[in-house]
Amino acid sequence: MAEPWNSALSHLECGRCGTRYDADEPQNLCECGTPLLVRYDLDLVARTVSTADIASRPGDLWRYRELLPVRDRRHVVSLGEGMSPILPLRSYGARIGVPDLLVKDEGMLPTGSFKSRGAAVGVSRALELGIDRITMPTNGNAGAAWAAYAARAGLEALIVMPREAPRITRMECAMAGARLYVVDGLIGDAGKLAAQAVADGWFDTATLKEPYRIEGKKTMGMEIAEQLGWRMPDVIVYPTGGGVGLIGIRKALDELVALGWLTGRLPRLVAVQSSGVAPIVRAFEQGAQTARPWEGAATVAFGINVASAVGDFLILSAIRDTGGTAVAVDDADILAAQAECAATEGVLMCPEGAATLTAVARLRADGWLDGSEEVVVLNTGSNLKYPHTAPGAEAPLLAKDGLLPLQ
Ligand SMILES: *Cc1c(COP(=O)(O)O)cnc(C)c1O
Ligand SMILES: [Zn+2]
Repeated sequence: MAEPWNSALSHLECGRCGTRYDADEPQNLCECGTPLLVRYDLDLVARTVSTADIASRPGDLWRYRELLPVRDRRHVVSLGEGMSPILPLRSYGARIGVPDLLVKDEGMLPTGSFKSRGAAVGVSRALELGIDRITMPTNGNAGAAWAAYAARAGLEALIVMPREAPRITRMECAMAGARLYVVDGLIGDAGKLAAQAVADGWFDTATLKEPYRIEGKKTMGMEIAEQLGWRMPDVIVYPTGGGVGLIGIRKALDELVALGWLTGRLPRLVAVQSSGVAPIVRAFEQGAQTARPWEGAATVAFGINVASAVGDFLILSAIRDTGGTAVAVDDADILAAQAECAATEGVLMCPEGAATLTAVARLRADGWLDGSEEVVVLNTGSNLKYPHTAPGAEAPLLAKDGLLPLQ
């Protein structure tokens, strides 16, 4: 007989005012305008599940099922997401003076980015709650992921993305049968258009506007713990747009500590942004609790081109509470790190992922990181989605019966 499937889902709770909401009804933001966080009966999990049970399960994110919100396994919509590899970056790490540099490579996941984690859990839960039409604004990868999982679940999806979003993500949405609209503007403008669909009865799955995307993304934190033997590195470095991944990793830390599954020191969390759009870094440096919108946002790392994040205060507290920091890096340095990492490690990162490498080099040079520390960076997506950032594809064209110029 199959192992039981016991989600310990309890209720939803406002991240600011603490108001409780029924998790078994569709919910968006709290009445106070704040994202809702999912709460579990952690005592029950601690009594009934062990890390050995987790270890015996299949290699996808549903191995953490008690700490995920889907109550009935028949509602799980999966494309095999989760358990991405953690790889050492020995040469890059040695060059910058951080020999214990590791990357968790989310480019390996379905739809080519870590967005599949949030989509798997969010779409599964939408299906479970009887939602049949979802909509969101996206910088590309989230739309591609949610469109694919919606197709698999038999839900309709309406996606709005900026025209500058990676072109391949448009193709992914179209292939998955989503209704796709492209806006001559940024993600905030896409949000205003998607709001029209929400007013028309489409369920709002924008970043942090429904509670379950975080739950999928928190599994990055759970996997880092499990893959390192139920301990944490000194530092985790994350390319931050809407910040769901960082908020999720922080939530994973809290839950694992409460369960007693994680012992020892906890990691400092670092948010990385592009200097072309760095509202969180600015707010962190100014000691602010929330972030003012960034004017004139622009960066090659399109997934982190977010001028204003609804979860800004959650991102800032995740960084501060863990003794972390926030760093802005230049696009030129991002592309140089991307090229160096590909050429010396064989790891082709997306620009967002490469931004974390640049940040680690800077933090080491500044002395914030010491050379003995273990650092895990997140490569959030596959480089294959960003062919326009990969120069060097020029190559001599030879005649069919020609000779290789080997001298
Ligand atoms: C969405 C995205 C990000 C930012 O994710 P958040 O968790 O919302 O901050 C980073 N990298 C890539 C490739 C993305 O698609
Ligand atoms: Zn509230």
